[in-house]
Amino acid sequence: MNILVTGGAGYIGSVCVEQLLNRGFNVVVVDNLSEGHRDAVDTRAVFVEANIEDSDAIGAVFKKHSIDAIMHFAALALVGESMEQPGRYFKNNVYGALNLLETGRIAGIKKFIFSSTCATYGMPERVPITEDLPQNPLNPYGESKLMFEKILSWYNKIYGLEFVAFRYFNAAGATEKFGEDHKKETHLIPNVLKVVLGKKEVCEIYGTDYPTPDGTCIRDYIHIYDLVTAHIAALKPGIVGFYNLGNGDGYSVKEVINMCEKVTGKKIPAIERPRRPGDAPKLIAKADKAHCDLNWKPQYPSLEKIVSSAWEWHRKHPDGYKR
Ligand code: UDP
Repeated sequence: MNILVTGGAGYIGSVCVEQLLNRGFNVVVVDNLSEGHRDAVDTRAVFVEANIEDSDAIGAVFKKHSIDAIMHFAALALVGESMEQPGRYFKNNVYGALNLLETGRIAGIKKFIFSSTCATYGMPERVPITEDLPQNPLNPYGESKLMFEKILSWYNKIYGLEFVAFRYFNAAGATEKFGEDHKKETHLIPNVLKVVLGKKEVCEIYGTDYPTPDGTCIRDYIHIYDLVTAHIAALKPGIVGFYNLGNGDGYSVKEVINMCEKVTGKKIPAIERPRRPGDAPKLIAKADKAHCDLNWKPQYPSLEKIVSSAWEWHRKHPDGYKR
């Protein structure tokens, strides 16, 4: 089976490419390297440097390769940035994705697997969050993902095209070869580990006055290997719809920092900062639907294992993919 992976040079995409190849799939990666790294693309994959908004380049990929399914990871994904540059977010995450979907549909793909986000829920009316809760995004990033979820539903209704949209909670951790290296790092775990590596002086805690037991935000962290195995399970014909991917456990920012101290054996200095705009106090998934329909079970649900794998990777790659 031939899979087109967009964003295969990025954090989650690179691990997905690796795991698809390990299981005998053929993989074509499309990535414009705006965020991704050429060295993060598994050497066994075919690599095409192209932008998903470029119809000619995407059309040429489908002409050259007979693609059975698309896994679409390429996206802009920073909440704060989306509040400053909404146009870029809608253009890439909606227009670019639609270009890919329409070209793939005409070429006869059987399935479209999409990286959506729990940011589509906004402030959830209850936690844990089930897939049927109202979606009211708080920022253009979440809105752009929700818009594309709706486009996928229409393509299913009108053309019968199978899709799976995964609403990720907090992706974290690494495999032995591939890990997290963003040009502008905003995520909690890599930022805390950077302090241990001496790349940052202190870690910052954004908000200590949330209505949570220690006042800091609670998130549901999921190992990227587990995220990826759900995508591979979703290739099965007949699986269609929206699925949360999380572990169902919540950890506060302070608990995550404590776990990083435990795993690295180092005291990590932290300073308290004001709240970051757009952050919900508590986001925890109920992922029973994925367990049940996809027969999917996370292998690394413990925060300690997630942080340990991230630490292993960052220790070996203190400068990320830079050689
Ligand atoms: N956070 C923090 N310091 C950081 C980065 C993040 O306190 O350096 C907080 C952030 O405000 C949020 C949580 O950690 O409450 C997780 O943030 P992250 O950016 O990792 O993921 P998000 O939940 O925004 O997708």
